Amino acid sequence: MEYKDLNTWIEISESAYAQNMEFFKKRVSSHSELSAVVKANAYGHGICEIAGLAVKHGADSLSVHSLDEALLLRESGFLQDILIMGPVALYRLSEVIKNNFRLGLFNLETLKELTRLTQEMGQRVRIHLKLETGTYRLGINEQELKYFLEILKNSPFITLEAAYTHFANIEDTTNHSYAYYQIDRFEKMISQIRSTGFPKIKKHAACSAATLLFPETHFDMVRLGISQYGLWPSRETFVSYKIKHTKNGEDVLQPVLTWKTRVGQIKHVPANYSIGYGRTYQTTRESRVAVLPIGYSDGYDRRLSNQSHVLIRGRRAPLRGRVCMNLIMVDITDNPGVQLEDEVVLLGSQGNETITADYLAGLISTINYEVTTRISQHIPRIVTPI
Ligand SMILES: *Cc1c(COP(=O)(O)O)cnc(C)c1O
Repeated sequence: MEYKDLNTWIEISESAYAQNMEFFKKRVSSHSELSAVVKANAYGHGICEIAGLAVKHGADSLSVHSLDEALLLRESGFLQDILIMGPVALYRLSEVIKNNFRLGLFNLETLKELTRLTQEMGQRVRIHLKLETGTYRLGINEQELKYFLEILKNSPFITLEAAYTHFANIEDTTNHSYAYYQIDRFEKMISQIRSTGFPKIKKHAACSAATLLFPETHFDMVRLGISQYGLWPSRETFVSYKIKHTKNGEDVLQPVLTWKTRVGQIKHVPANYSIGYGRTYQTTRESRVAVLPIGYSDGYDRRLSNQSHVLIRGRRAPLRGRVCMNLIMVDITDNPGVQLEDEVVLLGSQGNETITADYLAGLISTINYEVTTRISQHIPRIVTPI
């Protein structure tokens, strides 16, 4: 597919996405809700595009970070359940109630305001209580829980639909003892809730890594983020999966995103001249260089300067000089067929070559999550249908 009028665009492969969802639908029992986590513009993949594919290919619900993400989905016509996992400003809680969102709850102030508002509006709200089990991010501990439950018992318009937690150390290690500690703490708090007058409360804990590695954490719902996009949460998760399943996980997940641009100018640079700002690259031979119209303002990290590769005509071309705001330069001396407006892959596959998010992440000491998430929202996301 070609988009002649665009300098840069992202293609989202529906067939790759569908394969990933099919894998997870098989892996997760039908008793567990499969919630597609589409926060941060669906990890850079395009929130509405991915929500559409998620619903079409078997997600039961959607999860986001912010109220505005939830509103965007509603306004785009998504009528599914949407869980908001991050904080919502107290003065905007009425929007949560009006839109029947599920709200992650971890502040007493929020609970009190919801109790007041729901009574005033005569409308119900569903909450998912976030429990602190050892990540020490959002959540309430055992002592606070008692207090929350007291108030909840006297809040007839608030439905305590579920309680949930999040693992601290499941991706970054192949030793999962801390995850087991958290599950234990979680189960104890769930028992406390059930025996305090909420016998039917649902529970959930699993992110992608837990969904892949620990079926016993699937409970009533899994919150599937990175892996629906065809990316492994980490190398450790990949290795742990391989050990558990005595098979290579390589073909289990299919990356969904391909980031493209096209050649904007071709030029010759003599030997012993420099390329780009700061003159950080010196040619050692007469070089043929392609200038590409993407840069750090698009989310192509400046630390990739002189480090990464792109794909043109199925071959790797190394970056020369620094990444600019809107441009990069690559060496095509050994790829003489390259022409103006040739399609270039910055992330993804072309021919037999692949630039993975993990490869780019490794070059700049971060994780694949950050690489895709930081791709600018302004770049069009185009779904290539099956
Ligand atoms: C982002 C997030 C997830 C999804 O995590 P992945 O590792 O991307 O699957 C699940 N739960 C919470 C609370 C999150 O913030």
